[in-house]
Amino acid sequence: MHTSLPSAADGIDFSAQLNEQQLAAVTTEARHALVIAGAGSGKTRTLTYRVAWLLSHGTPGWRILLLTFTNKAAREMLERVQNLVGAQAGSIWGGTFHSIANRILRTHAERLGYRPGFTIIDTDDQKALMRALVKQHVGKQTKSDPFPKPELLLSILSLSVNTDRDWEELLRADYPMLKKHVQTISAIYDDYTKRKREANTMDFDDLLSNLLKLLQRHEEVRSMLQERFLHVLVDEYQDTNVLQEHIISLLSGGKNTSLEAVGDDAQSIYSWRGARVDHIFEFAEQYPDAEVYKIETNYRSLPAILEISNAAIAGNERQFRKTLRASRPGDGKLPSIYPAPDNKTEAIYVAQRIEELLERGEKPSEITVLYRAHFHSLDIQMELTRRRIPYRITSGLRFFEQAHIKDVVAYLRLLSNANDETAFRRIVSSFPKVGDVSAGKMWDDWQKARQEGMIETPDVPKRQYAAIAKKVNVPAAARPHWQAMLDTLDALQPENHELTPAEMVACVLQNIDPYLRAQYENAEERIEDIEQLSRSLPEAENLDAFLSQVALLSETDREPLTQENDKVTLSTIHQAKGLEWNHVFIIFLGEGLFPHHRIINNCNPAEMEEETRLFYVAVTRAKDSLSLSYPRYNGHSYEGQFCPPSRFLTSLPPELYEVAEY
Ligand code: ATP
Ligand code: MG
Repeated sequence: MHTSLPSAADGIDFSAQLNEQQLAAVTTEARHALVIAGAGSGKTRTLTYRVAWLLSHGTPGWRILLLTFTNKAAREMLERVQNLVGAQAGSIWGGTFHSIANRILRTHAERLGYRPGFTIIDTDDQKALMRALVKQHVGKQTKSDPFPKPELLLSILSLSVNTDRDWEELLRADYPMLKKHVQTISAIYDDYTKRKREANTMDFDDLLSNLLKLLQRHEEVRSMLQERFLHVLVDEYQDTNVLQEHIISLLSGGKNTSLEAVGDDAQSIYSWRGARVDHIFEFAEQYPDAEVYKIETNYRSLPAILEISNAAIAGNERQFRKTLRASRPGDGKLPSIYPAPDNKTEAIYVAQRIEELLERGEKPSEITVLYRAHFHSLDIQMELTRRRIPYRITSGLRFFEQAHIKDVVAYLRLLSNANDETAFRRIVSSFPKVGDVSAGKMWDDWQKARQEGMIETPDVPKRQYAAIAKKVNVPAAARPHWQAMLDTLDALQPENHELTPAEMVACVLQNIDPYLRAQYENAEERIEDIEQLSRSLPEAENLDAFLSQVALLSETDREPLTQENDKVTLSTIHQAKGLEWNHVFIIFLGEGLFPHHRIINNCNPAEMEEETRLFYVAVTRAKDSLSLSYPRYNGHSYEGQFCPPSRFLTSLPPELYEVAEY
């Protein structure tokens, strides 16, 4: 299919650096091409070389569109292209769907009724707006029948946009208990859309849906873009949602435009956010002229790791079967499984092995610890901190920076220091009808009462909290919450009994549990996080020691980003997609932890298959060594403490791994 290859003198010897299938996919002249291949087979590399090929064959950069999973991925790919072909890479349009949508809408949003210079609102702004609307539409909320939280309303709306399904249908299917609120929710959603419009703002979902609208309804823009882009390239195609799929097909709809997508159905892990793995299966139907390339060689992992990877995914029914052969020679070292006596020992073991790797001269940036959920990282964070091993954490917010953790810590801070205004305001601001203004007033009242001698020290006798309650002007809707707060503080008084910090956290949780459940769609996970917190620092002998440990842990991440290369990476598996490291540790591989107990209980085979793909993504990140571990005794579990190994481990043939001892 391909024309003459440029010689090595042209800069790049394509045929030397790519295998046959890769080369065919790089040089193809087909209108539609799909590379479907397993992890580490060089799909991303194929796209990178494709860009270099196109540039070196006369396509100007501005006529190439490269869609990637993160903006960072696009930057890295373009950097590599730049190394291959020089500066012409600069003019390429590369980035996520959202960033490309933003770029196009900057010029054309007026056609959709926006004024010039729209702004993008982030999740916090979205929440604030939704909160204000709930306040406006919903009168008095009762404790027994609270209205869904703004976050939940936003996530239902977002899923409906990203799956192109009616929100009401989604709500009836997934949240039947909210049916009675449909009318109010509908009015709130209408207002939400209206208010965003009035403010000339778009949220992230608007970027996608507005781009699609623009392309569908404005022929002149569509054909202009279709003429502009000669080549549309898409990485991680298996995780596109229905909007993105429409956008791709419209942007690549020009009669001279080619589309090349690469992906691996076995790595589809975002269906919970609306991604639809079927897009990759249906590619050849949708584009009957499509050429499909399969790469069967894995360049990333040592053979022993690859065997584990192949075994990890073998049980999934729904997949495009592919067997990967290792290109790297084997040195016989097997991946290891360490059944740790408990979660602390697991963290110590992993940190110890990381330390050994570093002592042998490995770069921290070549090491990662991966896990299913944020809170699984807490023990390892602490152990690395203790050993002064630098790490960066890419799993979103750091554990201690998450709102619900901060909420609990706020109670303890207030207990330790009755003058802590931020802690006080943080707690009361979470009550209904308490905005910034009333929180400020409540603080003033609280302070005044203290100065009048009612709260001299943090350890106020029980009765005095009752007295103080009368002195503070609390909006009616917030009174039950206010009372619960006072009860919590009462219960924590040292004069009542000597509590360890862990017991204090448990006590706060007990008091705020009903509110968490009423407020958050993922209350279970948040409660798990907090329970984890209560067990995390038993060595802190008193409250102050505990609080300073918490503060110091949050501090470690505020170093300049430039040092990133010198750090070990801690990441959720979702965030690690597409990346690779020499050494990979996967922790918390206990049944109920990963796979998550919710998924085990749901008994939905499709969900379990996605969980299995997540495990596959995790093991396939490793180049040279792979260490799997789980805590046999899990101090974080609240359903019994004994934790059997994950089914992902027990289903591996024993000859593929060795059992580590420590
Ligand atoms: P994933 O499914 O995890 O996204 P991928 O299929 O995109 O993986 P790449 O990240 O492109 O795979 O490649 C994996 C590793 O193999 C990279 O280090 C890449 O440079 C290397 N590699 C890929 N193809 C070749 C090749 N033909 N020769 C040498 N190295 C290669
Ligand atoms: Mg890739």
